[in-house]
Amino acid sequence: MRLVMFGAPGAGKGTQAKRLSEHLGVPHISTGDMLRENIEQRTELGRAARSYMDRGELVPDDIINGMVRVRLEESDCEHGFILDGYPRTIPQAEALDRMLGEMGIELDAVFDLEVPDEEIVRRLSGRRVCRQCGASYHVVFNPPKQPGVCDVCGGQLYQREDDTEEAVLNRIAVYKRKTKPLLEYYTRRGLMRTVDGTGSIDEIFGRLLGLLPGGK
Ligand code: ADP
Ligand code: AMP
Repeated sequence: MRLVMFGAPGAGKGTQAKRLSEHLGVPHISTGDMLRENIEQRTELGRAARSYMDRGELVPDDIINGMVRVRLEESDCEHGFILDGYPRTIPQAEALDRMLGEMGIELDAVFDLEVPDEEIVRRLSGRRVCRQCGASYHVVFNPPKQPGVCDVCGGQLYQREDDTEEAVLNRIAVYKRKTKPLLEYYTRRGLMRTVDGTGSIDEIFGRLLGLLPGGK
């Protein structure tokens, strides 16, 4: 199964992608997580990406496309993958089409998680992320069992640099300007499945399962 999780920052893409990844047994590929790993490991790619990310701007397409290409060629992607946070621009979607075309494969569906702006701001301002495995929590809506500690791996939870109010507002604006046009791009191909992204994490997961191609 080859899926794309689409939606505004904070719509719940990562939260749902992790669940779907376990359910389907295919890797969860988050370009945001990959970039943050590069920053942590002080790679050249991480240095190039950091200033864009801290401001809530998009990292240039060529950097992102190169990174995704390498990842999709890894053997664990053979039976599918869940892309989260990619593609985010029309040129990225075109690059993804070329990559998949060269590999002789196609996307099965694109899920758009729809959440109102006020809810996005509430979700992002309380988000805490695991330094080790990238799992996402919320201090009120989805708290860890022990404050500051990841339920999954015991890693330390932290607040992302780009979850400040200023960066969040910029990320929402960037989403509307550069990423939203992809809705039409994938609707035209018949791949887009719109999902109500409000309600509990379990409810939304149920909606996604009900919309999986082939009822998997
Ligand atoms: P994205 O990957 O789209 O940026 P996340 O999955 O990191 O979004 O979710 C953003 C924040 O919202 C996190 O703090 C997460 O715990 C919280 N969250 C996710 N789904 C829900 C939900 N259904 N209701 C309330 N909060 C949620
Ligand atoms: P995310 O973890 O998906 O919220 O992404 C965090 C930040 O990483 C974004 O605000 C961008 O700066 C950068 N980023 C992640 N994915 C992409 C992408 N596909 N294209 C450009 N920038 C990206």
